[in-house]
Formats: sequence, structure tokens, C-alpha cells
Amino acid sequence: MESQKNVIFFGAPGVGKGTQSKKLSEELDIPHIDTGSLIREAITSESPLGIKAKSFVEEGKLVPDELVIDMIREKLIFQKNKGFKGFVLDGFPRTIGQATALDNLLGLLKFKITKVINVQAPEEILIGRLSSRRTCTNKSCGTIYNVITQKPAKEGLCDHCGSPLYQRKDDSVEASKQRLEEYHTKTAPLEKYYRDKKIVADIDGTKSPDEVFQDIIELLNSPAPVK
Ligand SMILES: [Zn+2]
Repeated sequence: MESQKNVIFFGAPGVGKGTQSKKLSEELDIPHIDTGSLIREAITSESPLGIKAKSFVEEGKLVPDELVIDMIREKLIFQKNKGFKGFVLDGFPRTIGQATALDNLLGLLKFKITKVINVQAPEEILIGRLSSRRTCTNKSCGTIYNVITQKPAKEGLCDHCGSPLYQRKDDSVEASKQRLEEYHTKTAPLEKYYRDKKIVADIDGTKSPDEVFQDIIELLNSPAPVK
């Protein structure tokens, strides 16, 4: 029980949360759970939950929280039977309702969240990162580049297919500002929820991805209490 790493990742768009959480799941050999993949997997496997989820997706509706929680339950029970070491939740919960539903589920399974990792960076840095994204215009390729950190070999052209790159509307400075604002408005209550439980650990997301990852590993291995 003590050695379990049951981790939730928090982080604004552009902070590298997706990359870090996947890397952590590989390093610790524990499942990376993000709701998008969870729903896609369930639908592909045509499990009873997947069939239910499919009807919502086909109608263009959001998959209800209860169904997502049921999918997480299935995934965790499956892991529990294999010898449970932990999990990494990425992008879930997003609301207090989801957080309490998750707590109830974990309580039933006799698990609890060990850390909420909050990767942080100032807004200017995030806007800079988001607005430097470029996407391949070839729809069947769609490779994403970054003119600062992940340049294509030939400026403005895709390494894989040679098609021109463009900036998606979502990645403009204005749209990036808006995405960040929405993120903070939505997650502020949730952040407080976990801060009150004293399990949130802030990580400096301005460092290089490798340094950020090192900090996360150190944090998870240190017994020191967090704020
Ligand atoms: Zn391409």
C-alpha cells in the first residue's frame, strides 16, 4: 500500500503535462489513464461500457461522468488483480463532481490519491510555447512541430511528407490566451479541493522536459510532506 504511486496530473495547456505523465507511467510501469484513450479503447474492444459510450459519441454528446468512472473502475480492478503499483491520471478529474466520484471509487477499492502533481509555468511562457506550434497541412499526416523546440529540418515544411506547415487557429496568441484563461477558471476550484487535502505538489514547468521529469521522480520518492 505504502509504495503505491497513485498520481493525478494538473497542468495548463502547453506545460508538458501529457508528455510528463506518459513518461512517468512508462518509468514506473503503471497505467496512464486519460479519458480520451480510455473511451476509445472501450469502444474498440466493444465491451459493455464501450457499447454504451459509443451511443453518446455517435450522437456527438459527451460521455457522462458515471460511465467514465465505470471505465476507470474496470481498469483499476484489472490492475488490482495483476498486483497493483499505481496509476497516473491525466486530464481527469476536471470538476469537483468528478473528483468526489473518483474519491468514492478509490475508497471502495481501498486506494487513495498519493500525489497531485501540478506542473506550473508563467502565462507568457505557455503562450509562447502554444503559439509556436505548427501543424502539417496534410490531413493524413498531421505531424505537429514547434518553431522553437521542435523545428522541421526545412523551414515551413513537414519532415515526413514535405507538405507545408501552418498555424492552427487554436494555436494563435489570442486563442492560446483564451485557452489558458478557461483552464484556470475551470480548474481553480478543483485545485483548492486537492490543496485542502494537502496532497498537491508544485513542479516548475519552465525547466527542460528532462529536468522536470527528474523533479517529479525525486518528489515521488521523497517522504517529505508537501504543501
Ligand atoms: Zn506531414
